[in-house]
Amino acid sequence: MLEIKNIKKSYKTGDFIQHALNGVSLKFRKNEFVAILGPSGSGKTTLLNVIGGLDRYDSGDLIINDHSTKKYKSVQWDYYRNNCIGFIFQSYNLINHINILSNVEMSMTLSGYSKKKRKKLAKEALSKVGLLEHAYKNPNQLSGGQMQRVAIARALSNNPNIILADEPTGALDSKTSEQIMKLIKKISEDKLVIMVTHNRKIAEEYADRIIEIQDGKIINDSKPYEEKETKKEKLNIKKTAMNYVSALGLSFHNIRTKKWRTFITSFAASIGIIGIALILSLSNGFKNKIDEFEKDSLSQMPITITEQSMQLDEKQFTNKTDRNLKEYPNDKKAFTKKDSFENMVHINKLTKDYIDYIDKINKKYIGSITYLRTTAINLVTKVDNNNYKLIQTTEDIKNNYYYALSELPEINANKNDMISTNFDVIYGNINDNEPGLVLILDSKNQISDSILKNLGFANKDLSFEELTKKEFKLIHNDDYYKKNNYIYTINKDYKKLYNTEKSKTIKIQAILRGKEDKKVLTESSGGIYYTKEFMNYVIDSNNNSKIVKEQKQKNYNVLTTEKFENNDEKSKILGYLGAEVEPIGIYIYPNSFESKEKIVEYLDKYNKNKDNKDKIIYTDMANLMSSLTSNIMDAITIVLIAFSSVSLIVSSIMIGIITYTSVLERTKEIGILRALGARKKDISRVFNAEVLIIGLFSGILGIVVAILFTIPINHILFSLTGLKGIAKLKLSHAITLIVISSITTLIGGFIPAKIASKKDPVIALRSM
Ligand code: ADP
Ligand code: MG
Repeated sequence: MLEIKNIKKSYKTGDFIQHALNGVSLKFRKNEFVAILGPSGSGKTTLLNVIGGLDRYDSGDLIINDHSTKKYKSVQWDYYRNNCIGFIFQSYNLINHINILSNVEMSMTLSGYSKKKRKKLAKEALSKVGLLEHAYKNPNQLSGGQMQRVAIARALSNNPNIILADEPTGALDSKTSEQIMKLIKKISEDKLVIMVTHNRKIAEEYADRIIEIQDGKIINDSKPYEEKETKKEKLNIKKTAMNYVSALGLSFHNIRTKKWRTFITSFAASIGIIGIALILSLSNGFKNKIDEFEKDSLSQMPITITEQSMQLDEKQFTNKTDRNLKEYPNDKKAFTKKDSFENMVHINKLTKDYIDYIDKINKKYIGSITYLRTTAINLVTKVDNNNYKLIQTTEDIKNNYYYALSELPEINANKNDMISTNFDVIYGNINDNEPGLVLILDSKNQISDSILKNLGFANKDLSFEELTKKEFKLIHNDDYYKKNNYIYTINKDYKKLYNTEKSKTIKIQAILRGKEDKKVLTESSGGIYYTKEFMNYVIDSNNNSKIVKEQKQKNYNVLTTEKFENNDEKSKILGYLGAEVEPIGIYIYPNSFESKEKIVEYLDKYNKNKDNKDKIIYTDMANLMSSLTSNIMDAITIVLIAFSSVSLIVSSIMIGIITYTSVLERTKEIGILRALGARKKDISRVFNAEVLIIGLFSGILGIVVAILFTIPINHILFSLTGLKGIAKLKLSHAITLIVISSITTLIGGFIPAKIASKKDPVIALRSM
């Protein structure tokens, strides 16, 4: 069953070689009590460790079940120890942070027995040594003799065939020694017990066979094995493996003995997680707010189509040309390329065709459509009884008119147009079907004085009544332009113009102010606007005026006599004079975010299969703005996360150091576990489990702390920005971060766990 053949084992310290075993051969019976007797340093422990597969022999062989072990792999030794051997040490070697029962269960835990079976067998073993009532005590609550009995129970629990005892009574008083020896004697009734001792008295009193050893050599064997005794007796060796749950349990118990250290470690490790969690919750919150804002307000920004449009494609960024030229050539030659501005600016031809196309947009998506025209507005007002003035209707920076009159986006029946959603009518009523003016004030009811002055008001604060009472006169072209010979001039007798029959009286219909929650969007839109019907009226009444009729026939400008270079120039002047021509710009206000997508889709459809020059390029400012802001948010988020990731790396290293300390502290435990048959894998599993627990805990701790932090952060942000509940951690982010925390700590603990598993069990057991 078990035989050693010419075993040699030596230790080299420096230049000195110590032959601990120098050619030992022995054969054991299945059932005997063997005492190995020898003075200190004679090689007894070494022999026992070699027999138990804890230590490797240098040469010779150990025969198990008639098989050589020369080619045994590490795990095979582990299985052998776990299945066949029960170790009893002089210094008991119990694991202090788990209770007696768990200590006794340990070799079965390593074998992967079920919890129930483990408990049952461990209790049986404990009752055999008379310690059942102490099952739930910790080792340090017992006397030396009791501890040794626990160690014996542990050795027996797995029911191995061989018990190896190394000076089991070396640390005990004579009375306790006697009890222990009787116990061992009893065990030897159905097992092979090999006990090492230097006490001849004990050996002679209890053992069936005494083998004396000196300087690593057998000098006497009282009952050597006879060849005729050949009885086939087999040791039964199964594969064993500790499962993860057991590893977790073991680590959990260990962690419990150092709660504070674990807590502080986890807290330190969680700082990175807290940082990232806060950054994610903030950026996520801001993004949501931006999205909300975009849906809410930016969708009210018009899609703009003007005669010239920036065409932002990759060409001008990558400096790509159509020609296939080499970079940094050696040619002594310059190559031409298109001006980059020329590439960028696209000329939109707003043909009748396109205007009709725009007219056919599904009305349910539209808030309003306004057209930009160059039509001159001949508007005259009365300053006082003697003074009349022409109102400046286009921007004229030279003369300090910064505000042009522009068309008010029309009001639609569903009240989801740009004006109804963003403005309150605070005085009067808007009537789109009547030519009229509309005044928009800012949040403090202010309006620029130059606008009021331009409209002929006195420079003072005015009541809404005063504002809406005032009359303005739209002057017909036939009154406004007078023909002298072949040139038309402007009639500047404003008093006379004001009082002509043909002039149309206009008033300020309504006064508007941006809604409180739309301040960002509306605050700067103060000024004077005209209704849609206003422009229709101007064009309708002037389209058949004398000057327009004449201009249509002439090939020169009837106001200056300048000759036209092309048709576009003529069309421009006709438009200026109030003839019906295509507008120069279109503003489309979608009524919702979703509608905008539809409108854009519709506009894109127009360009399909068209030559580049016939395409109409629109500008979607809202989209540009929001993609800009969300790109910036993304960039900031990435940078911040990169910074706090550094703390994750730091905590990973810290976990590594702490695990390494733990490995050093638990060297003895590693030795014990290995002696009980733990594989290298099982050892690293124990430490990985410990690190995993810390990683999980620090991840969860980090998330909880981050969530707690968001409360004051949201308070501060609310008082700064008025936005509620910005910082909010997404569940998916929280889970990801806990996983990341576990993975980084696992990485940090990986090397120390590997170191632990590589420890030589014999050396580990010798450590204190
Ligand atoms: P015993 O148990 O009989 O007292 P050991 O088997 O422990 O003796 O040791 C036998 C000899 O081997 C001793 O001289 C001891 O110093 C030496 N020895 C044991 N282990 C080592 C080691 N790891 N390194 C160096 N020498 C060792
Ligand atoms: Mg010894």
